[in-house]
Amino acid sequence: MNIKDLSVLDEEHICPDCDAKMVACEAPPVHVGDGLGWGSEILFICLNNECPPFKTGWQKVDVNYGHKGTFRNMQLPGSIEQNVMMVASEIAFTGSIIDVKQLREQNERYQNEKAATKALETCLEKNDIQPVMTLILDEAATPEPRQRAVEMLIFFDDLSCIDAIRNHTFKKTAFKQATDMIIAKLLEKNYKKECPFCTEIIKAQARKCLHCKADL
Ligand SMILES: [Zn+2]
Ligand SMILES: [Zn+2]
Repeated sequence: MNIKDLSVLDEEHICPDCDAKMVACEAPPVHVGDGLGWGSEILFICLNNECPPFKTGWQKVDVNYGHKGTFRNMQLPGSIEQNVMMVASEIAFTGSIIDVKQLREQNERYQNEKAATKALETCLEKNDIQPVMTLILDEAATPEPRQRAVEMLIFFDDLSCIDAIRNHTFKKTAFKQATDMIIAKLLEKNYKKECPFCTEIIKAQARKCLHCKADL
């Protein structure tokens, strides 16, 4: 899910009936005819099965509506006003609990990608290779700017980027090949090669590796 304002996840909501910490859940999708829904992507819900409205609700719903169900206490972000939601089962909402940590990480990755993509325009003149590397090493980055980043690598002429690329596991073979090709060009341009035995970068004409002493 894509929440615009993650700061609401810092909010602490305590259930007024049982004192349990209410859990941030994704709001259920609004069906046509349901009106505007809750107007929030996130609902804080008391998922405590010992909570009084939940425990006593089964009977009330049965008597009043003639079907299986009960109530969960709910609060909207930025509000302590108490609402109840009818739920059909114990597991309602347990599948939509927001993984706050994961969501923050996803958001951070996305923000970094966005900043790096923007910085691509000016990073060459600033001689700042970082945005290029961020995109190359980000498996979730948008393909087009990521491809552009690989192609830009040759203009930086910075052999120190090779290690990070070699140590990265690329998911897409075609992209891995694109990085291999650029590294080969980069080495050639600098009259260097990688030792086939220890992978250290050495002079293109070397007959013996300076690092592992292997005969080439
Ligand atoms: Zn409660
Ligand atoms: Zn070597």
